[in-house]
Amino acid sequence: MEVDTVEINDAIFCSSHIKEVCEECGYDGREENDAFYGFNPINREPLAPPSVTVNKDGLHQCKKHGSAGCNQCFGWKKQITKARTAAKKAGKK
Ligand SMILES: [Zn+2]
Ligand SMILES: [Zn+2]
Repeated sequence: MEVDTVEINDAIFCSSHIKEVCEECGYDGREENDAFYGFNPINREPLAPPSVTVNKDGLHQCKKHGSAGCNQCFGWKKQITKARTAAKKAGKK
């Protein structure tokens, strides 16, 4: 089954729930997002996007700052790096 996805500041999420890993959709975008940032995919905690709204151009923006390219809320590379470090520490592959 194809899952509808949405791109927020270069990372991909399921469009219905804005989750990187979504059981409901059967979606896991970690591999794609890791690859985008030049990482080898590992079993890490998924990205946790903040509350978002859709602006008049159809772009997802953070509720907090009203910005579609908000590096504070959508700083994925930093979040992925953190999640990878945590996963490695926990001995996951
Ligand atoms: Zn979903
Ligand atoms: Zn923000």
